[in-house]
Amino acid sequence: MSDFYQTLGVPKNASQDDIKKAFRKLARDFHPDKNPGDKKAEEKFKQVSEAYETLSDAEKRKQYDELSRLGAFGPGAGGFRPGAGGPGFDPSMFGQGGAQFDMGDLGDILGNLFGGGAAGGRGRRRAAERGDDLQVDVTVSFDDSLHGVTVRVPVDKPDTCDTCHGSGARPGTTPKVCPQCQGRGSIARNLGGFAMPQTCPQCRGNGTIIEHPCTACGGSGVQHKTKRYAVKIPAGVKDGSKIRIKGKGEAGLRGGPSGDLFVRVGVEPDDLFERRGDDVVLDVPVTISEAALGTSVRIPIPGGGRVALKVPAGSQDGRTFRVRGKGAPKLKGGHGDLHVRLHVHVPEKLTKEQKQLFEKLGATLPDPRVAVLG
Ligand SMILES: [Zn+2]
Ligand SMILES: [Zn+2]
Repeated sequence: MSDFYQTLGVPKNASQDDIKKAFRKLARDFHPDKNPGDKKAEEKFKQVSEAYETLSDAEKRKQYDELSRLGAFGPGAGGFRPGAGGPGFDPSMFGQGGAQFDMGDLGDILGNLFGGGAAGGRGRRRAAERGDDLQVDVTVSFDDSLHGVTVRVPVDKPDTCDTCHGSGARPGTTPKVCPQCQGRGSIARNLGGFAMPQTCPQCRGNGTIIEHPCTACGGSGVQHKTKRYAVKIPAGVKDGSKIRIKGKGEAGLRGGPSGDLFVRVGVEPDDLFERRGDDVVLDVPVTISEAALGTSVRIPIPGGGRVALKVPAGSQDGRTFRVRGKGAPKLKGGHGDLHVRLHVHVPEKLTKEQKQLFEKLGATLPDPRVAVLG
């Protein structure tokens, strides 16, 4: 841990302006854009930025100065050394008469200074945490996906234990203060002559120990419960889309906000229709004669109803017709299109009469391969 003032080359009583000026100059000199591939410059740039981040903030600077005064930083300071005696840090200095702050505050200060780093972050008394997001899968029929539907979705999630109301202690008993950390939730850990606060291993940061755990939840304060939510699936929903329901995920910890619930919608395939984005594809068989002579067929449309489709004479197998606005509903309004794909159906079994008619017809048809294959 280097001295932030030394890093920026300013005296300890430097004004905010001086600190800013010093930082700007150093940041310019060591900026990675100016020193491509130079690891030393990159490291220096990081150090300078780190020092500036702390010293430019009046509150953080004050905390830093306070820690410096206690000998936390700099060469020869001896570092924080729990129980080592001599110069340096002794946990007994804190939390007793005349101490400036206790370990809990120290943890917070180090946590603030060093961000959520491994040791720094864990050393703080555990703060409120947002609950995890949850995901559940539901499946709706193709028809429901077109019209929209409300489904009741069961969600299995951890919730506050009914028996102990979340304390984890058997009713009639109370958790006791953790003897190892005296309820602070963190203890000092020696990191090469420098003490960083660490989550107390005995109470895992809770500050309390449950001697008589609640039998319903095993002391966790949490029970899995199945909740049912009514989820509105919008008309036109696509297979695999996710609907987010704010605040219906896992409950937050220590007063933190709940996570979100994501409902992933599966749409069952349909026998007739195939979804392609907002469009829908329908295969329609026609006989050889209908394809050759032309016809009008009544075709089903997605979501119910039928429309007439004119098949012109000479339509080839695989020809596709677009029926505008008869596809799936779009989430933002309007509809996609229906694509009708012709399948010219060739009879597999012929009666004697049909066979004679085909032979007669065939004799009159030109060879189609001449134009293509020569
Ligand atoms: Zn503890
Ligand atoms: Zn319980």
